[in-house]
Amino acid sequence: MPSFKTAKIILVVDDELSLERLIKQRFRKQIKAKELEFIFVTNGCEAISLLEVSPDVDLILTDIRMPEMDGLTLLDKIKKIDPTLKAVVVSAYDELKNIRTAMNRGAFDFLTKPIDFNDLEITINKTLGFVREVRENQRQLQVAQEQLRYQAFYDALTGLLNRNGFIEQIEMCISEQRLSSRFAVLFLNLDRYQVVKFTLGHGVGEELLKQAALRLESCMLPTAIIARVGSDEFAILLKDISDSQQVSSIASGIHRALEMPFVLEEVAVSSTVSIGIVHSSLDPLEPEDLLRAADTAMHCAVLQGKGSTAIFNAGMRAGAISRLQLEADLQRAVFNEQLHLNYQPIFSLVNEQIVGFEALVRWRHQVRGMVSPTEFIPIAEETGLILPLGAWVLSEAMGCLKMWLEQFPNVRPLSMSVNLSGIQLSSPDLVVLIEELLEHFSLSGESLKLEITESMFMENAGAAGQLLAELKGKQIQFSIDDFGTGYSSLSYLHHLPIDTLKIDREFISGMVGDSKDSDIVKTIISLAHSLGLDVVAEGIETQEQLNKLRELGCEYGQGFFFSKPLDVEAAGELLASFN
Ligand code: C2E
Ligand code: MG
Ligand code: MG
Repeated sequence: MPSFKTAKIILVVDDELSLERLIKQRFRKQIKAKELEFIFVTNGCEAISLLEVSPDVDLILTDIRMPEMDGLTLLDKIKKIDPTLKAVVVSAYDELKNIRTAMNRGAFDFLTKPIDFNDLEITINKTLGFVREVRENQRQLQVAQEQLRYQAFYDALTGLLNRNGFIEQIEMCISEQRLSSRFAVLFLNLDRYQVVKFTLGHGVGEELLKQAALRLESCMLPTAIIARVGSDEFAILLKDISDSQQVSSIASGIHRALEMPFVLEEVAVSSTVSIGIVHSSLDPLEPEDLLRAADTAMHCAVLQGKGSTAIFNAGMRAGAISRLQLEADLQRAVFNEQLHLNYQPIFSLVNEQIVGFEALVRWRHQVRGMVSPTEFIPIAEETGLILPLGAWVLSEAMGCLKMWLEQFPNVRPLSMSVNLSGIQLSSPDLVVLIEELLEHFSLSGESLKLEITESMFMENAGAAGQLLAELKGKQIQFSIDDFGTGYSSLSYLHHLPIDTLKIDREFISGMVGDSKDSDIVKTIISLAHSLGLDVVAEGIETQEQLNKLRELGCEYGQGFFFSKPLDVEAAGELLASFN
């Protein structure tokens, strides 16, 4: 491979015209080999003009005494033009005073005339080596500075701006803002990220973020500024907005772009996005405040139901504060064991005997009274509190089952169903925890049923397969909870290690006469049976529903018709009446 060397450029500044010929002669070989190139000028002014148009010079050889601008003045000017460029002074005026002045002004070396060309060659090589090193260091410093800037303002995972970069953009937008131009900030939360991260792993979670970022970029106008401002949070700055309707329709476009399932390691994962919007016309206009307001609106959107959009209004702040308070209170409640369990009996529809209970967690808040698990379980999932909470529920429910098995030997079979979040299902400690609890309470695996919702099951089928298999090996039973509400394809069911389908109460309550829901329930029951699964109907409230379910061959049921969830004493009394 031929190597194309670029010659080092040496600028010779000297009014002694014979020097050009002498130098060209002495460095003939290097010039021919394109190792060195010499440019000759006769005074400092010409040198400066040349440096200004052609900054590629690597070394200057300069005389001191010259017309128009002397060498010492030139040394001062070079420093300002390019601090990495070095000059060697070549002069007949070799008195100590001149050497010292030249050195003080930044000369790299000093040679005397008449020139000793061997000496000159050594000095040129030494100085060029030094310049190369200085410039390389400077280049590395620049790269490092660029990297630092990138880290400070960009998100390495998605390549989008990060929070700082986004704030800077809002700042610029505010300062550029003309009276007529309005902008809006959108704050987005990827609703399923935490669950995906916990269940399918960190790497898959990151993949979800990258794919989401690409989809956002593809559905936005090029003028929109997109950033990743938190682990699963994105923000978008929309400039030159005509009206709020336009922003709402952009938000609808984002929902549509993200609602198609993401294929992550061959698992299709759906994730809705919750969007909060704040318009620039609102006070105050500090960038951080705007972003916080959009974030607050986003949290309200989450509460409206995942996949919603909310536009910021001042009243939302109070709501956001109260949610933060709730998170803190829940943390305290979990660690101070201020939660308790209720137990809802599950009956055989054939003989109306109790066959088990479902443990349902309850939180009596000191100020708010009872808080529904549908409100605090999502908070526990988002904050990671679900792991200690879930472990406590398992321990409490299994301890209770042990007590009842001893107290009521005639109620058999008797099992305990415990609801499990997908996040627990991915925790590597779950198997050990359950094994320890089974051993501690001397319970057999089949007396424990773990309820997992349909969508959680689908997402875990791949990654947590090993964990499910291990639990299955301990004879632990699995139920699909709220069956019929998820998006799973029914053909998937026979791949899952499950024992029971629990039909969601929506279908049971809609089951009057020959309604569509009756047909769905009928289909689910025959599907379950053909796969060798039991069926539990959830939320039976009337005799009519019960009769219909019996007719369809549903074997188990729970619901207010039989009993509401009961505290431990009341459940014990009920069991006593069956003993
Ligand atoms: P789920 O597992 O589907 O529980 C059944 C829910 O239906 C319970 O609501 C129960 O009180 C209610 N229910 C039972 N029978 C009837 C009926 O006849 N009519 C009506 N209208 N409702 C009935 P609850 O206790 O509010 O729990 C709601 C959800 O919270 C549960 O749904 C479950 O997904 C979750 N959850 C409860 N406890 C836990 C827990 O310990 N861990 C986890 N991860 N989730 C839990
Ligand atoms: Mg359940
Ligand atoms: Mg359910």
